Parts: sequence; structure tokens; C-alpha cells
Amino acid sequence: MLNVVIFGAPGSGKGTQSELIIKEFGLDHISTGEVLRAEIKNKTGLGMIADGYINKGHLVPDDLIIDMLAGVLDSKKNARGLIFDGFPRTIPQAEALKEMLNERATGIAAMLNLEVEEEELINRLLERGRRMGRSDDNPETIKSRLDEYHLKTAPLVEYYKKENLHHAIKGTGTVEAIYEQIKEILSSCRIS
Ligand code: ADP
Repeated sequence: MLNVVIFGAPGSGKGTQSELIIKEFGLDHISTGEVLRAEIKNKTGLGMIADGYINKGHLVPDDLIIDMLAGVLDSKKNARGLIFDGFPRTIPQAEALKEMLNERATGIAAMLNLEVEEEELINRLLERGRRMGRSDDNPETIKSRLDEYHLKTAPLVEYYKKENLHHAIKGTGTVEAIYEQIKEILSSCRIS
């Protein structure tokens, strides 16, 4: 399998680049944000709990996310590879992911870190809020999401550097120029 973690702050373009990777490399997409939004829409138990966290711009607790991901992984057993978008977001999630993939005799081939400056992130999220009406894309929630990112998610850069899986991607410029960098990395990835 070719399993890839697409990483970056909120607004860094993970979803957009994931779509291009999926088209070319035939991977299955796992976006924890999208799974959570579907749970909220369907008013499931998990959805009701997650809603409170998401609207405050907080992360949903690790145990809930890890259980949810285990279920998603089991439903994707026959995929050629997976792209993890919005997961892992904490060190415990990264450790759980490593273990879950190990148990399934596979692992992560690359972590792609979309680097974008804070001011650009805020502008993109405000614009998305205006265009798509996502309830967490408002100024107050954006600030807490970025704070959560710096506190809990950014340490994953060091984690994946130690694992020798980290690749920095310049996340500004045209969508195509960003994707070219990703394509070059993925084309030379070893498949486990
Ligand atoms: P973005 O990358 O723009 O923040 P996502 O759609 O990935 O958007 O996530 C939206 C929200 O869902 C996050 O702010 C967080 O509250 C919750 N969430 C998504 N994935 C995770 C995760 N892996 N761990 C904890 N919370 C998560």
C-alpha cells in the first residue's frame, strides 16, 4: 500500500491537494474532519459530542478519534493506499496510527507538510467561511484552531522528522505548483 499523511495547519490546502493525489495515485481518502461532519449531520452519539469541540475550535479527544479511525481503516482494507487528511493531529494519534498500520502489515510512506504563513492561513479560512459557510470558519474559532495547531499538532513535524518520513512542501503559489512538489516525492516513494 502507498499510505500518505497530508499535514498542515487549518487552511493549508490539505483537502485540495488530497483530491489531486487521489486522482493520480488512486488512493482512498480518509479525512477525519469530513467523517466528523457526517456524524454531526446524522446526529450520531459521536457527532453530538464532536460538535461541541469543533465549534469551539478545539480538537476532539484522542480516544474518540482513534476508535473512529480504526473503524474507517477496517472499511478500506482493499485500498491501493490511503491518504490521511487531518489525522494524526496529536502525538498519541500518530503513535496509534503507526500501531494500527503495523497490525495491518503496512506503514506510512511519507508525511507531506504543507507550509503556509499564518496571515495567509487566516485569509484563506475567512474566505472559505464566506464562500462555503463552514460553521468553524469564523474569526474566533479560527484563532482557537490555530492555537490548538501550534500547541498539539505542530510537534508532529519533529516526530515525523525522527521517523525519516517528513517532506516540507511550499504551500503557497498555484495549486499546480504545489502539487508538482508532491508528485515528485510520491513518485519516488517505496510502497510497503
Ligand atoms: P481544518 O484542517 O480546516 O481544521 P478539518 O476538516 O480537518 O479542517 O477539521 C475540522 C475540525 O474537526 C477540527 O478543527 C477538529 O475540531 C476536528 N478534528 C478533525 N480531525 C481531528 C483529529 N484528528 N483529532 C481531533 N480533532 C479533529
